[in-house]
Amino acid sequence: MASKKILVVEDEPDIRKLVHYNLTQERFKVLEAEDGEKALKTVQREKPDLVVLDLMLPGLSGLEVCRNLREREETARIPILMLTAKAGEADRVVGLEMGADDYLTKPFSPRELVARVKAILRRTEMQSASLVAEVYEKGSLRINFSTYEVSVKEKAVKLTLKEFELLRFLVQNPNRVLSRDQLLDRVWGGEVFVDPRTVDVHIRRLRKAIEKNDRKPQWVLTVRGVGYKFDEKALEK
Ligand code: CA
Repeated sequence: MASKKILVVEDEPDIRKLVHYNLTQERFKVLEAEDGEKALKTVQREKPDLVVLDLMLPGLSGLEVCRNLREREETARIPILMLTAKAGEADRVVGLEMGADDYLTKPFSPRELVARVKAILRRTEMQSASLVAEVYEKGSLRINFSTYEVSVKEKAVKLTLKEFELLRFLVQNPNRVLSRDQLLDRVWGGEVFVDPRTVDVHIRRLRKAIEKNDRKPQWVLTVRGVGYKFDEKALEK
């Protein structure tokens, strides 16, 4: 998390310096802007990883800066931590509605600010990791969620769309017992006249396609009386 770039937008020099100092102590790279116009220019130029944004700014207000950042594709996902005055309840609500990620009310402790910054960065990192995770790869199983290609031991496996969706739901919920109803709901959701036995039929086909021995499945396990479970640990064997 160190060396992440943080832009601090605040017109009061004392607060700006205080925030700057405390973030630098945590080895963040800190940039400063004392008004909204400069903030927008700095964001365009430096592409910070997070913006600490005071709402009360001369000229372009913090809310306008927030709106502006959210409206542009290239800055829409930069996390924003708002700084608000205690009295500014309405601003705070508007700010959050406008897409700020969190807020701190003045006066705040620098430690609290650093903790919030770290929490937001952790959260956004996890989100972006799951967004780019287009490929699932474990042991000999490889699934590409964007091209719908599946392979086992580097050999391509043909699946119908439903079988693919079933596999996707299983691998996204590893080591959990999933009932037939859950699988029906998630994979066939909304389709009426689908019998729970449909799930069994598709599981059988899926096993035939991906398991080494579909009569003794190791990945897609039956949980008697309930449903199925995807045993992720078995992939590594
Ligand atoms: Ca201010």
